[in-house]
Amino acid sequence: MRITDLNPHGGIGANSLFVELGPFKVLVDAGMSPKHEGNEAIPRLDLIDREPLDLILLTHCHLDHLGAMPVALRNHPNVPLVMTPASRVIAQRMLHNSHNVMVRQREENGVRDYPLYRRQEIEQMTGRIFPLAPDNPRFFSSLDGDTMTLTYHHAGHIPGAAGFTLEYHHRKIFFTGDVLFDDMQTLPGATFPREQVDTLVLETTRGASGRPPGYSRDKEVGQLVQAIRETLEGGGSVLLPTFALGRMQEVFSIIHRSMGQRQLPRVPVFASGLGVDLCDYFDQIARKTKAVDFRRQILKDLKVQRLPHGYKPGQRLPGPAIYVLSSGMMVEHTPSYIAAVNLLGDARNLVAFVGYCDPDTPGGLLQQAAEGEYFLFEVLDKRAMLAARRMRFDLSGHADRDELLAFALDLEPRAVVLTHGDPEARDWFADQLRTARPKMQILDPTPLEPVEV
Ligand SMILES: [Zn+2]
Ligand SMILES: [Zn+2]
Repeated sequence: MRITDLNPHGGIGANSLFVELGPFKVLVDAGMSPKHEGNEAIPRLDLIDREPLDLILLTHCHLDHLGAMPVALRNHPNVPLVMTPASRVIAQRMLHNSHNVMVRQREENGVRDYPLYRRQEIEQMTGRIFPLAPDNPRFFSSLDGDTMTLTYHHAGHIPGAAGFTLEYHHRKIFFTGDVLFDDMQTLPGATFPREQVDTLVLETTRGASGRPPGYSRDKEVGQLVQAIRETLEGGGSVLLPTFALGRMQEVFSIIHRSMGQRQLPRVPVFASGLGVDLCDYFDQIARKTKAVDFRRQILKDLKVQRLPHGYKPGQRLPGPAIYVLSSGMMVEHTPSYIAAVNLLGDARNLVAFVGYCDPDTPGGLLQQAAEGEYFLFEVLDKRAMLAARRMRFDLSGHADRDELLAFALDLEPRAVVLTHGDPEARDWFADQLRTARPKMQILDPTPLEPVEV
């Protein structure tokens, strides 16, 4: 087998792997990096322009895996795009949102490559999607009659997310994709087979840091609920900057349960952004496939309101209240960024981060800033004194490194290919695997250079 990492910048970003297995050529994901702009933000799909692909696989609908898919499909007409039925419900909605963002970035920042595809191309995906439910092996034949088997496996992480196995002539290759083993309130943890494989392609997102001893997700949720309660009872409001896909619905579900059990007082809940729309899609997935435990009714029970119409940064927000706003990293111009201008200055308020923030994003900078400092909202030309409490809760959507390492060792692979992680994260896995299994082949592919496994 040969694997080429098409993500030109390495790390996590424009995730995309080109896999050659016997006569089969498969593209796995075509993502878009949030840290780059224009054509720099997507995989080097041009390098495989002339390769006759058999399949394009999508592991899940996060944009770092899906964002450049219309470009990949344009270059390879007639090749089926395989994804889980749950991903099929969300994928085009995610791409339309990404298209909106690209159009805005073209206008505001003059990114001339944007948008990278036309809306029509998102629509045209419909006929190309081949839905494949988890745990259903599917044979594919090459022109000369060779066969390969593809099986998706439920990966936790977000609704629709899948790892997968490729089997070809008694060789078994397992790709984890992005994976979470813990159960969430809205989504059960991954159900990966623990059987011997020849090669394991492993995500390494959390390799650089372990969890504190005694960590449990339930405990973390308990602490979050307690911090929200204290804030509301003290007359303050809570801002939860959340990722739209998966995390926002999980947060709604946590608030819903906690209010139902009287662990939280009933206060107004405001929400905004793509995540609110996605609640309808999750409802649809829940009805059709049971891949997620979420119902639209939760929003009705919570009487979720949109941010006040025409809300301007710096304008007073009603409180005590809970604000569940995207984006999770408080990226400029998003509802969480704009609302923070108002909420940060009041010491009774709480900003609760429930997901990872890149250190260079406003969310990351806000976590590092000291109390009493002024925080500059550059694009709004406003500043706020940091008086509100800022706390982080680890509700990550990725498996802890020790769990993932144990999983890797269980599979007894002859070779492990490290993907989806920063260099320090990959190094940790490489060191640990080498120590535990000195004979194992460990590959950390250099971007754009094929590796033989
Ligand atoms: Zn993901
Ligand atoms: Zn990812």
